[in-house]
Amino acid sequence: MSESPSPLSERPALLGGLPVRTTGPPSWPLLREEIQSSLMECWQTGDWGRYHGRQIPRLEKLLRDFYEAEFVTLCSSGSSALELALRGAKVEPGDEVIMAAYDFRANFQNITLLGATPVLVDLRPDDFQMDVSQIEAAISNKTKAILISHLHGGVVDVVQARAIADAHQICLIEDACQCQGASYNNRPLALWGDVGIISFGGSKLTTAGRGGAVLTNNATIAQRIKLYQERGNLAYPLSELQAAVLIPQWESLREDHGHRLQSVELLHSLIAQENLLGLSLLKQNGQTSLKERGSHSLSPGYYKVGFRYDVAQWNGLSRELYCEAIRSEGIAFDPGFTALHHASRRYRSLSALPNADLADQQIVGLHHPVLLESAEAINEILVALQKIYRHAEELQEWKAKSI
Ligand SMILES: *Cc1c(COP(=O)(O)O)cnc(C)c1O
Repeated sequence: MSESPSPLSERPALLGGLPVRTTGPPSWPLLREEIQSSLMECWQTGDWGRYHGRQIPRLEKLLRDFYEAEFVTLCSSGSSALELALRGAKVEPGDEVIMAAYDFRANFQNITLLGATPVLVDLRPDDFQMDVSQIEAAISNKTKAILISHLHGGVVDVVQARAIADAHQICLIEDACQCQGASYNNRPLALWGDVGIISFGGSKLTTAGRGGAVLTNNATIAQRIKLYQERGNLAYPLSELQAAVLIPQWESLREDHGHRLQSVELLHSLIAQENLLGLSLLKQNGQTSLKERGSHSLSPGYYKVGFRYDVAQWNGLSRELYCEAIRSEGIAFDPGFTALHHASRRYRSLSALPNADLADQQIVGLHHPVLLESAEAINEILVALQKIYRHAEELQEWKAKSI
């Protein structure tokens, strides 16, 4: 394949060209001065070496105020937060928990760890969020909880999920690990459930490397969590030092959230203008139906900006190779999750799960740190996309040869 020679910047980096972002994707976390000051304060006061200092109560208060949640339990990860939430819902061996067939793997494992069975329902075809209209059919006399999880910039229909949980008096657990700062109807995502969880893991929107929190306004659930956590030694604590680095991040979260929304809006409009049909926004069934409920105050969260990748529109360029190629341009795209029914057999389901299968094959997500950069950085994403799009066939041939 010898075409006319093109300047280096025209070539995909994977084929020896110059990457669009020569410095690679932005690193995470951001090295902000407020975080340094908070760490220094922790050092000076000695809180870094204490069980009980000033940082944990400060972070708890910030989260209580942010979420208007009466009870906040800090813990060692989002996954341990889910375990505590499940225990708070009194999920026990033999029980069932309804969840989407496409979700964070550890959520599924947490349920089986407690001896309960995940009952998988399918996704909506348009936005690849849990199809909550399938929940009711999945309820049995063993159902102890419903787990909803907002993924890849989408929002589960929280109004309908809430209504179903209320009608059947089943505990609704809301995983908001991917959408800190997001809200619907001015109510933060995480608090539409009876109990919500967030994560402070190293890639998340607010990070302490590890960490998580359980949020609830339900005193019974809070009491069960407290009893579990305080048997003997404290189970899954967060440290003062972790709280110290999180405090400034929660103080600036609203502003950061606004910045991310702006970037995503720009990105979507650029992609629409350029008619990049092979990369469509996860559109937006749940979100439209929420908007149609008379409010337009839907504000999604973007840990990943999710897209449906259509391999046919990209001249057969596989999703994995697309991700590899765009990453070598300095733009952090990854494939989504593996559908849960492909990873384990320890579940029950009522039907085939065709939309979860599609999500498994098609989703790609743009990692969030670039969303806090300038409009120019968002424009660069498009430049990279177009470059890969133009060279899709050549990339595919290159891969075939290099195997
Ligand atoms: C990150 C994440 C969690 C929890 O992750 P930890 O790494 O255990 O903090 C849970 N659910 C979803 C959807 C996540 O993305």
